[in-house]
Amino acid sequence: MGIVSGLPEGFNAASYDVIIVGAGYAGAVCARRLVEACGSKVCVLERRNHIAGNAYDREDEAGVLIHEYGPHIYHTTDDRVHQFLSRFTEWTDYQHKVLANINGTLMPVPFNHTSLKLAFGEEKGEHLYQKLVATFGENKKVPIMELRQKNDPELTEVADFVYENVFLYYTMKQWGKTPDQIDPSITGRVPVFVGDDDRYFPAAPHQGMPAEGYTKLFERLLDHDLINVFTGVDARDILSVTPEAVLVDGKPYGGDVIYTGPLDELFNLDLGALPYRTLDMVFETLDMDQFQPVGTVNYTTSEDFTRITEFKNMTGQVVPGKTTIMREYSKAYEPGSGQTPYYAILEDETRQLYQAYRDRVKNLLNFWVVGRLAEYKYYDMDGVVASALALSDEIIANR
Ligand code: FAD
Ligand code: UDP
Repeated sequence: MGIVSGLPEGFNAASYDVIIVGAGYAGAVCARRLVEACGSKVCVLERRNHIAGNAYDREDEAGVLIHEYGPHIYHTTDDRVHQFLSRFTEWTDYQHKVLANINGTLMPVPFNHTSLKLAFGEEKGEHLYQKLVATFGENKKVPIMELRQKNDPELTEVADFVYENVFLYYTMKQWGKTPDQIDPSITGRVPVFVGDDDRYFPAAPHQGMPAEGYTKLFERLLDHDLINVFTGVDARDILSVTPEAVLVDGKPYGGDVIYTGPLDELFNLDLGALPYRTLDMVFETLDMDQFQPVGTVNYTTSEDFTRITEFKNMTGQVVPGKTTIMREYSKAYEPGSGQTPYYAILEDETRQLYQAYRDRVKNLLNFWVVGRLAEYKYYDMDGVVASALALSDEIIANR
């Protein structure tokens, strides 16, 4: 039924079958599934003044389509996710490529055959590559922490180079910790690639950009007679939970609530704040057609920022004489400061704290948590969509 800014006079949340907190992937996918499968009347509350969560894009003053909350490249191996999203957008065939600026030389990341030759010279690089092929096989992904464990002087030389020049400084900037100090699955997202494929997501059969942008995709996803979206509304103003019930406007609510925000916020952080990293994103529009050769350049041995993204290189948009780039500066998130919690910090202690919050809602049969924030996970877009599809399956089956 549309997207409205603020709550209209006489708004009655309790008149909806489902209340969804957050209009990112998690919330929007659940909304669509529940109206289509159950004919539920759904209300989506979003505290930002726009839909699409962190995938939100818009044209800036120069007319360049930018990603307000960091570069978003769609990629998935999940056919169900792809089929679902493809109902709401066409895709470009963009294949994301990243170069690392290593002491002034640009090398493909994930570190691959080409990078080896650039780093070690043609002959030695080829020799080391053949060693990697003999050890791991061709077109294989090898996480850096696994490569570092190999007890072979030549493999150690490669591992040391990649660790020092690709991972160490970048990870220090991004997480404030060394790669040894963070969960290995994080650096494992960008494994050494024993092959020539220089795409950032070599395994993803479906990748690209939504042809008209992410916000347009969300407009279609949420465009349904039974879905009302209210932006600029913090759900906590009308919704709260007790151990026994979900309260809306102070009264027990009988419908389903799907919550996609940070779980600790629901309880005023009373067990302590879940830690996150946030980013300062600094945009700059330049009077030139193109600034850098690829979508993203990672600065792995220098600079205070982690990476520079040039949006036109990803979207394929043509804007003569102008281009917009964005630098990302990572820092610790301070709750209550108005910053955005972008990355959960996954450690044993933080997982336990999350679980303690999660336990508080486990007996509420009509309260569901889903999404990167609410599940406190390092999800890509496709992972969130998969999780939202699975949750909606469960809710639909219960009805
Ligand atoms: P969100 O998009 O965060 O949406 C949650 C929404 O809930 C927010 O809009 C928030 O305002 C709202 N909300 C929270 N609390 C309340 C409340 N109390 N009341 C009302 N509203 C509330 N994934 C990829 O696949 N490819 C990429 O290239 C990629 N790049 C990324 C780059 C960066 C810098 C970041 C941070 C993430 C990136 N991701 C990428 C991941 C992607 O952004 C997420 O997986 C996805 O957007 C998460 O969707 P979500 O709905 O769970 O959360
Ligand atoms: N990473 C790195 N150097 C790089 C690329 C990635 O050290 O050039 C590490 C870093 O710790 C980063 C993690 O690998 O946080 C995951 O990288 P990815 O590009 O997947 O991060 P995202 O796009 O989610 O910020």
